[in-house]
This record gives sequence, C-alpha cells and structure tokens, in this order.
Amino acid sequence: MSQDLAYAARLLLDAKRILIFSGAGISTESGIPDFRGTDGIWTKFSAEDFMLDRYMNERSVRVRAWASRFPKMFGNARPNDAHYAVTKLWKHGRLIGCVTQNIDGLHQAAGLPQEMIAELHGNSDGIACMSCGASYEPSEIEQRWVNGDVDPHCDRCGGILKSTIVFFGEVLPQAAVSLAYRWAAEADAVISVGSSLSVYPAAYVPLDVASRGAPFVIINNQPTDLDNVASLRLDGMAGDLLSRLVAAITS
Ligand SMILES: [Zn+2]
Repeated sequence: MSQDLAYAARLLLDAKRILIFSGAGISTESGIPDFRGTDGIWTKFSAEDFMLDRYMNERSVRVRAWASRFPKMFGNARPNDAHYAVTKLWKHGRLIGCVTQNIDGLHQAAGLPQEMIAELHGNSDGIACMSCGASYEPSEIEQRWVNGDVDPHCDRCGGILKSTIVFFGEVLPQAAVSLAYRWAAEADAVISVGSSLSVYPAAYVPLDVASRGAPFVIINNQPTDLDNVASLRLDGMAGDLLSRLVAAITS
C-alpha cells in the first residue's frame, strides 16, 4: 500500500459515519464521460437542451432532449469497483450516506439502497409534469415516444413533461439537499470521489464536514479546488483507490 493510502486508512480507521461525496469521475470507469473532459458528456448531449427556460419555451429543444433520453440515456453502463466499494462501506455499517452529483443511477445499480443516496442533481429515472407535478413511469412515456409522440405532454393537464434530472437554471431538489446537509452535520469523516469540488452549492457538503475538523479525503485523478482544505488527496483512479481504501478500513 502506498504511504498516502496508508495515511488515509489511518485517518478513517475509527470513523463510523463516513459520508461519501461522488462526482462524475466515479463513473468514468463505467464508460460515462466526465462533463468536463475532452470527450465530455456535452459532446454527446447539447448543454443548451438542458437549460430550463429553453426547454420550457421551445418545442424543438424538447424534441431533441427526448431523443437523447430514449432509448437509454447511459447505454449499458455498469457500476465499477468504486461504486461497489461504497456499497461495501454501507454493508459494514460505516456509511452515513452517499451524496452524489451524478444522475446515472450507478450507486443504486451497485446495490446501495435509495434511502442511502442523496441525488443533488436528480436522476434520469423519473419524469414529471412541470404544471401539475404528476409523475410518470419512464417506460410509459418511452412507449408514447416510440409511437411517434416526440414532445409528450401531461395527459391530465396538458403541461410540459420533463425528466427529473436537474436542468441548468433549476433549483436543486429540496429533499435531497436537506438530507445531504443532515448527513454532513452528523458525519465523522468525508471521502470525496471523482469530483473537481468546484460546483456550488454541492461542494459545501464535504466542506461542512471538514469545517468541523473531521478527516476529509479526496480521491481524484487531477487537482481539485479543495485540495488545500483536505487532509490529503489520493491521486489516481477511483475504482482502484476507493476499493483498496475501503478494504483497508473494513478488514
Ligand atoms: Zn400535468
């Protein structure tokens, strides 16, 4: 084990309520491109199609957004070792919760229960009416889309339907934010995995834990905006580093 990894393991050895904060970098090894990378997700999806005001006002934007949503936004991406390591932490009773900026559902796919996950940017599993709030099964809307309804509307009130992914210009889901801050207040350590820690308010979550003097370990393959605040940053791939770290503190 490298010196840094051994040091991180010592810091976390006695932590009983570890908060995991995950960003896009935890899913790159699952084949989902990082938003910021040269092959970032916005080379596949158009960022402007995820701006709330344009989506609400322009039919052509909605038509493109649904076309990128179906048949399956993230293809056949599977969880990787990093997602499974988070689940392992939970199984050992050491996880207070996982706060994620991701919308790919891979923590759930790795067996982490939904109630252990605060999805700050929503997820791609739900579809809701922007007028009356009615929620729809994606499979139902997908069937309508396959049948030629390229801009599906609410069948109760005629309102515009939208994925429960948080769009640019949209407030973060209050329930997820409250849960994230409750966990941050109770956590006795935090590990940030695959996040540049540059997006606020999300980055306040690990910062909140660290501000109380609790260990703050960053795993990322490039510098982050909070390296100077963290106990240390482990430089490398999330799958390798997080699984070794979790193995070291749960054995
Ligand atoms: Zn409606």
